[in-house]
Amino acid sequence: MDYFNYKNGKLFAENVDVQRIAAEVGTPAYIYSKATFKEHLQKIQEAYSELDTTICYSVKACGNINILKFMAEAGSSFDIVSGGELYRVLQAGANPSKIVYAGVGKTDTEIIEALNAGIGYFNIESEAEIQNLIRLAKESSSAGNKQPKAALRVNPNVDIKTHTYDITGKKETKFGVDIECAQKVFADYGRSDAVKLCAIHIHLGSAGHTVEPYVEAIEKILTLIEQLRRDGFTIEAVNIGGGYGADYITGTAPTAADYAAAIVPLLKGKKLKLILEPGASIAANAAILVTQVLYLKTSGRKKFVIVDAGMNDLIRPPLYDAFHFIWPVNVSEKFVPRQRDRDLQLDGTEVVDVVGPICESADFFGKDRALPTVKRSDLLSIFTTGAYGFSMSSNYNARGRAAEVLVDGSEFKVIRKRETYEDLTALEK
Ligand SMILES: *Cc1c(COP(=O)(O)O)cnc(C)c1O
Repeated sequence: MDYFNYKNGKLFAENVDVQRIAAEVGTPAYIYSKATFKEHLQKIQEAYSELDTTICYSVKACGNINILKFMAEAGSSFDIVSGGELYRVLQAGANPSKIVYAGVGKTDTEIIEALNAGIGYFNIESEAEIQNLIRLAKESSSAGNKQPKAALRVNPNVDIKTHTYDITGKKETKFGVDIECAQKVFADYGRSDAVKLCAIHIHLGSAGHTVEPYVEAIEKILTLIEQLRRDGFTIEAVNIGGGYGADYITGTAPTAADYAAAIVPLLKGKKLKLILEPGASIAANAAILVTQVLYLKTSGRKKFVIVDAGMNDLIRPPLYDAFHFIWPVNVSEKFVPRQRDRDLQLDGTEVVDVVGPICESADFFGKDRALPTVKRSDLLSIFTTGAYGFSMSSNYNARGRAAEVLVDGSEFKVIRKRETYEDLTALEK
């Protein structure tokens, strides 16, 4: 579900003509729909309303301060993975006590910043990290900070059958501790006065397109929690992470309600607060990346559409083999896409590779795509690019990052300016 739709052959972001934005702001540009973000958040809030739930939107998916601000106002909290993200969410006015902080390599400086901010939970990824947190918390309590809380991230060892780089909840990943070791970690550190280890965290990875791995993982950690409670430990919360399937092709991902229907009954009556860390399922289809056709080229039997966005703007296709539906911003009525599928089977299309200008063969957005015939300066929309789009962008090839635009009903505003040449060299002295 999102608010990017064709009206009379013209693509609209909510009530704004995408071509109008491109004419004013230039290309490439990320165009976000505020209503889409808010609707996705609201659906999750409603789906889990039976439980005492905190939704911690995962900042790394898409972290523009303006977006974080309205998410906070709409009742979201935040999942962060760095000091930079902590800075961002505080700038956005987040309630510090509801922030959860994950990441296998938190530095002392980052931990101290989070202690001073008074965040909700440190998600602990290793024994060495809890030792270090206890050490720093002792020093910090003499500075007046209260006892911080921590959740132990465990690997429930379930397979979500996604791209290898997206798997984070199996034994051989760098994340969390194996579930068999969790009791030992609690025995060793669960009675610390400096840190209150009182929750369990899991995050299975991204793009889980079924509910079953979550059910399997939650059943495993509920068994663990029972054991821990029997051993005398207080477990007040369970954080089941993110990774809920985003709707990259309309209709393929389970909805928040589908997940909740399986998850809520497992946790009801268990005296556990629930924390969720959705990223992509909120942000992915809340944006399009709009790019302009520069050149058409035939090479052997292949046709290439060369556009002005590059892998520095959107790296998901080469990095994760990700599918993003690509379609012209303006089309004749017969080419209005019914769904965002690879396989539209419309007469009169041409099979092309859509590629960027960067000096790498990995610089592509889609291969062997049937597109209506396009010409120089036509606009293309790369759909479902709200998550891990701009936030993974870089300056490779000395390209300034794209502008970010937020659409709200019939209005739009630039929420991050396009980077200039001066921005590129500003820190080099
Ligand atoms: C990245 C991440 C998320 C969000 O994952 P999505 O697939 O975007 O939902 C949640 N929790 C943690 C710990 C993460 O690293």
